[in-house]
Amino acid sequence: MCTLGSTLLRMVNLVESLVQRVLTTASVVAVARLGESMYEVTLTAPAFGDWRYVPGQSVRLALGNGLSLRTYSLWTLSESTVVLRGFSHSDGPGSRWMASAEPGTRVALTAPKGVFVVDQEAPWHLFVGDDTGAVPLLAMRAALPASASVRGVVVSREEMPPLGASLPWRSSGTLLDAVRSLELPSSPGVAYVAGEQKACLEVRDYLRNSLGWPRRAVKVSAHWTPGKRGLE
Ligand SMILES: Cc1cc2nc3c(=O)[nH]c(=O)nc-3n(C[C@H](O)[C@H](O)[C@H](O)COP(=O)(O)OP(=O)(O)OC[C@H]3O[C@@H](n4cnc5c(N)ncnc54)[C@H](O)[C@@H]3O)c2cc1C
Repeated sequence: MCTLGSTLLRMVNLVESLVQRVLTTASVVAVARLGESMYEVTLTAPAFGDWRYVPGQSVRLALGNGLSLRTYSLWTLSESTVVLRGFSHSDGPGSRWMASAEPGTRVALTAPKGVFVVDQEAPWHLFVGDDTGAVPLLAMRAALPASASVRGVVVSREEMPPLGASLPWRSSGTLLDAVRSLELPSSPGVAYVAGEQKACLEVRDYLRNSLGWPRRAVKVSAHWTPGKRGLE
Protein backbone atom coordinates (compact mmCIF):
# COMPACT_ATOMS: atom_id res chain seq x y z
CA MET A 1 0.00 0.00 0.00
CA CYS A 2 2.83 2.28 1.01
CA THR A 3 4.70 1.48 -2.24
CA LEU A 4 1.54 2.09 -4.26
CA GLY A 5 1.06 5.40 -2.42
CA SER A 6 4.60 6.60 -3.07
CA THR A 7 4.44 5.46 -6.72
CA LEU A 8 1.23 7.45 -7.13
CA LEU A 9 2.81 10.46 -5.47
CA ARG A 10 5.81 10.23 -7.81
CA MET A 11 3.44 10.04 -10.79
CA VAL A 12 1.49 13.07 -9.56
CA ASN A 13 4.77 14.98 -9.14
CA LEU A 14 5.88 13.92 -12.63
CA VAL A 15 2.59 15.00 -14.20
CA GLU A 16 2.74 18.28 -12.29
CA SER A 17 6.26 18.97 -13.48
CA LEU A 18 5.28 18.11 -17.08
CA VAL A 19 2.28 20.42 -16.87
CA GLN A 20 4.50 23.16 -15.48
CA ARG A 21 6.71 22.82 -18.51
CA VAL A 22 3.82 23.58 -20.81
CA LEU A 23 4.15 27.03 -22.23
CA THR A 24 1.55 29.74 -21.66
CA THR A 25 1.04 32.33 -24.36
CA ALA A 26 0.92 35.89 -23.03
CA SER A 27 0.60 39.37 -24.54
CA VAL A 28 2.63 42.42 -23.65
CA VAL A 29 0.34 45.16 -22.28
CA ALA A 30 2.92 47.76 -21.24
CA VAL A 31 6.62 48.51 -21.56
CA ALA A 32 8.52 51.11 -19.53
CA ARG A 33 12.14 52.05 -20.03
CA LEU A 34 13.59 52.41 -16.53
CA GLY A 35 17.20 53.15 -17.50
CA GLU A 36 19.71 53.08 -20.35
CA SER A 37 19.36 49.32 -20.76
CA MET A 38 16.65 48.47 -18.19
CA TYR A 39 13.09 47.63 -19.23
CA GLU A 40 9.94 46.76 -17.36
CA VAL A 41 7.60 44.57 -19.39
CA THR A 42 4.06 43.79 -18.23
CA LEU A 43 2.43 40.65 -19.63
CA THR A 44 -1.12 39.37 -19.42
CA ALA A 45 -2.66 35.90 -19.91
CA PRO A 46 -5.78 34.24 -18.46
CA ALA A 47 -3.60 31.44 -17.00
CA PHE A 48 -1.80 33.85 -14.64
CA GLY A 49 -4.82 33.68 -12.31
CA ASP A 50 -3.93 30.01 -11.58
CA TRP A 51 -0.20 30.56 -11.12
CA ARG A 52 1.41 30.43 -7.70
CA TYR A 53 4.74 32.06 -7.06
CA VAL A 54 7.24 32.72 -4.31
CA PRO A 55 9.35 35.92 -4.68
CA GLY A 56 12.72 35.01 -6.21
CA GLN A 57 11.31 32.47 -8.67
CA SER A 58 11.64 32.88 -12.42
CA VAL A 59 9.97 32.11 -15.74
CA ARG A 60 11.50 31.07 -19.05
CA LEU A 61 10.56 32.90 -22.23
CA ALA A 62 10.64 31.09 -25.58
CA LEU A 63 12.18 33.71 -27.85
CA GLY A 64 13.38 34.12 -31.41
CA ASN A 65 12.05 31.16 -33.34
CA GLY A 66 10.69 29.79 -30.04
CA LEU A 67 13.75 27.62 -29.48
CA SER A 68 15.84 30.13 -27.52
CA LEU A 69 14.81 29.95 -23.86
CA ARG A 70 15.87 32.86 -21.66
CA THR A 71 15.17 33.09 -17.92
CA TYR A 72 13.71 36.14 -16.14
CA SER A 73 12.81 36.58 -12.48
CA LEU A 74 9.31 37.73 -11.69
CA TRP A 75 9.12 41.27 -10.44
CA THR A 76 5.45 40.86 -9.53
CA LEU A 77 2.60 38.44 -10.26
CA SER A 78 -1.08 39.32 -9.91
CA GLU A 79 -4.31 37.62 -11.05
CA SER A 80 -3.93 39.07 -14.53
CA THR A 81 -0.38 40.33 -14.97
CA VAL A 82 3.24 39.29 -14.74
CA VAL A 83 5.82 42.06 -14.56
CA LEU A 84 9.42 41.37 -15.63
CA ARG A 85 12.45 43.62 -15.43
CA GLY A 86 15.02 42.81 -18.05
CA PHE A 87 18.25 44.29 -19.35
CA SER A 88 19.44 44.64 -22.89
CA HIS A 89 23.17 43.98 -22.55
CA SER A 90 24.00 41.94 -25.64
CA ASP A 91 22.82 40.95 -29.11
CA GLY A 92 21.24 37.77 -27.68
CA PRO A 93 17.53 36.95 -28.08
CA GLY A 94 16.71 38.03 -24.50
CA SER A 95 18.32 41.43 -24.86
CA ARG A 96 16.79 41.99 -28.30
CA TRP A 97 13.34 41.00 -27.02
CA MET A 98 13.51 43.32 -24.01
CA ALA A 99 14.47 46.26 -26.21
CA SER A 100 11.85 45.58 -28.88
CA ALA A 101 8.79 44.39 -26.89
CA GLU A 102 5.75 46.65 -27.28
CA PRO A 103 2.06 46.40 -26.42
CA GLY A 104 0.57 43.56 -28.45
CA THR A 105 3.81 41.53 -28.70
CA ARG A 106 3.11 37.87 -27.92
CA VAL A 107 5.42 35.52 -26.09
CA ALA A 108 5.29 31.96 -24.73
CA LEU A 109 6.56 31.34 -21.22
CA THR A 110 6.76 28.68 -18.52
CA ALA A 111 5.09 28.94 -15.11
CA PRO A 112 7.24 30.30 -12.24
CA LYS A 113 9.62 27.94 -10.51
CA GLY A 114 12.89 27.85 -8.62
CA VAL A 115 14.41 27.36 -5.18
CA PHE A 116 16.10 30.76 -4.99
CA VAL A 117 13.63 32.06 -2.39
CA VAL A 118 13.80 33.50 1.10
CA ASP A 119 14.58 31.10 3.95
CA GLN A 120 11.88 31.95 6.49
CA GLU A 121 13.96 30.44 9.32
CA ALA A 122 17.01 32.66 8.67
CA PRO A 123 18.23 34.67 11.69
CA TRP A 124 19.06 37.49 9.26
CA HIS A 125 19.26 37.95 5.48
CA LEU A 126 22.13 39.05 3.23
CA PHE A 127 21.22 40.12 -0.35
CA VAL A 128 24.07 40.53 -2.85
CA GLY A 129 23.85 40.94 -6.61
CA ASP A 130 24.42 42.81 -9.85
CA ASP A 131 21.80 44.48 -12.05
CA THR A 132 20.06 41.27 -13.18
CA GLY A 133 20.35 39.90 -9.64
CA ALA A 134 18.59 42.99 -8.29
CA VAL A 135 15.30 41.78 -9.79
CA PRO A 136 14.81 38.66 -7.63
CA LEU A 137 16.68 40.19 -4.68
CA LEU A 138 14.44 43.27 -4.47
CA ALA A 139 11.32 41.12 -4.94
CA MET A 140 12.50 38.85 -2.09
CA ARG A 141 13.43 41.85 0.06
CA ALA A 142 9.96 43.36 -0.47
CA ALA A 143 8.30 40.15 0.75
CA LEU A 144 10.06 40.24 4.14
CA PRO A 145 8.33 41.78 7.15
CA ALA A 146 9.57 45.20 8.27
CA SER A 147 10.98 43.56 11.40
CA ALA A 148 13.36 41.29 9.42
CA SER A 149 17.08 41.86 9.88
CA VAL A 150 18.52 42.64 6.44
CA ARG A 151 21.95 43.53 5.04
CA GLY A 152 22.97 43.71 1.44
CA VAL A 153 24.39 45.49 -1.55
CA VAL A 154 23.73 45.71 -5.29
CA VAL A 155 26.55 46.65 -7.65
CA SER A 156 25.21 48.12 -10.87
CA ARG A 157 25.57 51.25 -12.98
CA GLU A 158 21.79 51.59 -13.19
CA GLU A 159 19.85 51.82 -9.94
CA MET A 160 16.54 49.98 -10.04
CA PRO A 161 13.38 51.52 -8.52
CA PRO A 162 12.45 49.13 -5.67
CA LEU A 163 9.08 47.61 -4.72
CA GLY A 164 9.33 49.09 -1.23
CA ALA A 165 12.41 48.91 0.95
CA SER A 166 15.53 49.14 -1.20
CA LEU A 167 19.06 47.78 -0.81
CA PRO A 168 22.29 49.83 -0.66
CA TRP A 169 23.56 50.50 -4.16
CA ARG A 170 27.07 50.88 -5.61
CA SER A 171 27.82 51.98 -9.12
CA SER A 172 31.25 50.30 -9.45
CA GLY A 173 33.60 47.69 -8.01
CA THR A 174 33.29 43.94 -7.57
CA LEU A 175 30.58 42.11 -5.66
CA LEU A 176 33.26 40.67 -3.39
CA ASP A 177 34.70 44.09 -2.48
CA ALA A 178 31.17 45.38 -1.85
CA VAL A 179 30.42 42.49 0.52
CA ARG A 180 33.76 42.85 2.29
CA SER A 181 32.94 46.47 3.06
CA LEU A 182 29.63 45.62 4.77
CA GLU A 183 29.34 45.49 8.53
CA LEU A 184 27.85 42.06 9.13
CA PRO A 185 26.62 40.43 12.34
CA SER A 186 29.22 38.08 13.81
CA SER A 187 27.14 34.91 13.37
CA PRO A 188 25.98 33.66 9.95
CA GLY A 189 22.60 34.49 8.45
CA VAL A 190 21.37 33.28 5.05
CA ALA A 191 22.89 34.87 1.94
CA TYR A 192 21.20 35.21 -1.46
CA VAL A 193 23.74 35.95 -4.20
CA ALA A 194 22.56 36.58 -7.78
CA GLY A 195 24.20 37.78 -10.98
CA GLU A 196 27.32 37.05 -13.00
CA GLN A 197 28.48 33.52 -12.22
CA LYS A 198 32.14 34.07 -11.28
CA ALA A 199 31.37 37.13 -9.15
CA CYS A 200 28.68 35.16 -7.29
CA LEU A 201 31.03 32.24 -6.66
CA GLU A 202 33.70 34.60 -5.28
CA VAL A 203 31.17 35.91 -2.76
CA ARG A 204 30.04 32.38 -1.92
CA ASP A 205 33.64 31.25 -1.32
CA TYR A 206 34.37 34.31 0.83
CA LEU A 207 31.34 33.70 3.06
CA ARG A 208 32.07 29.98 3.37
CA ASN A 209 35.85 29.93 3.54
CA SER A 210 36.78 33.25 5.14
CA LEU A 211 33.74 33.81 7.38
CA GLY A 212 32.96 30.12 8.02
CA TRP A 213 29.33 30.19 6.90
CA PRO A 214 27.70 26.74 6.49
CA ARG A 215 27.27 25.54 2.88
CA ARG A 216 23.49 25.69 3.04
CA ALA A 217 23.52 29.27 4.34
CA VAL A 218 24.67 30.62 0.96
CA LYS A 219 22.20 30.43 -1.94
CA VAL A 220 23.56 31.33 -5.37
CA SER A 221 21.62 32.10 -8.54
CA ALA A 222 24.07 32.37 -11.47
CA HIS A 223 22.38 34.49 -14.15
CA TRP A 224 24.98 34.96 -16.87
CA THR A 225 28.69 34.82 -17.60
CA PRO A 226 30.79 36.24 -20.44
CA GLY A 227 30.86 34.03 -23.52
CA LYS A 228 27.98 31.71 -22.53
CA ARG A 229 24.50 32.00 -23.95
CA GLY A 230 21.30 31.45 -21.95
CA LEU A 231 23.09 30.42 -18.75
CA GLU A 232 20.90 28.62 -16.18
C1 LIG B 1 17.30 32.15 -12.65
C2 LIG B 1 17.64 33.35 -13.54
C3 LIG B 1 16.94 34.55 -13.36
C4 LIG B 1 17.24 35.65 -14.16
N1 LIG B 1 16.52 36.81 -13.98
C5 LIG B 1 16.79 37.88 -14.78
C6 LIG B 1 16.02 39.09 -14.67
O1 LIG B 1 15.07 39.17 -13.90
N2 LIG B 1 16.36 40.13 -15.48
C7 LIG B 1 17.40 40.06 -16.39
O2 LIG B 1 17.66 41.04 -17.10
N3 LIG B 1 18.11 38.92 -16.52
C8 LIG B 1 17.83 37.85 -15.75
N4 LIG B 1 18.55 36.70 -15.89
C9 LIG B 1 19.69 36.72 -16.81
C10 LIG B 1 19.29 36.51 -18.25
O3 LIG B 1 18.60 35.29 -18.40
C11 LIG B 1 20.61 36.49 -19.03
O4 LIG B 1 21.23 37.75 -18.94
C12 LIG B 1 20.46 36.08 -20.45
O5 LIG B 1 21.71 35.56 -20.84
C13 LIG B 1 20.15 37.21 -21.39
O6 LIG B 1 19.92 36.62 -22.63
P1 LIG B 1 20.48 37.20 -24.00
O7 LIG B 1 19.75 36.42 -25.04
O8 LIG B 1 20.39 38.69 -23.98
O9 LIG B 1 22.01 36.86 -23.99
P2 LIG B 1 22.71 35.43 -24.27
O10 LIG B 1 22.49 34.99 -25.68
O11 LIG B 1 22.25 34.47 -23.21
O12 LIG B 1 24.22 35.77 -24.04
C14 LIG B 1 25.03 36.40 -25.03
C15 LIG B 1 26.22 37.08 -24.37
O13 LIG B 1 25.76 38.27 -23.75
C16 LIG B 1 26.48 38.52 -22.57
N5 LIG B 1 25.49 38.72 -21.48
C17 LIG B 1 24.39 37.98 -21.20
N6 LIG B 1 23.74 38.48 -20.15
C18 LIG B 1 24.46 39.55 -19.75
C19 LIG B 1 24.32 40.50 -18.71
N7 LIG B 1 23.30 40.46 -17.85
N8 LIG B 1 25.25 41.49 -18.59
C20 LIG B 1 26.30 41.57 -19.43
N9 LIG B 1 26.49 40.70 -20.45
C21 LIG B 1 25.59 39.72 -20.60
C22 LIG B 1 27.39 37.32 -22.33
O14 LIG B 1 28.70 37.61 -22.73
C23 LIG B 1 26.83 36.26 -23.23
O15 LIG B 1 27.79 35.39 -23.69
C24 LIG B 1 18.26 35.56 -15.13
C25 LIG B 1 18.93 34.34 -15.33
C26 LIG B 1 18.63 33.26 -14.54
C27 LIG B 1 19.36 31.96 -14.79
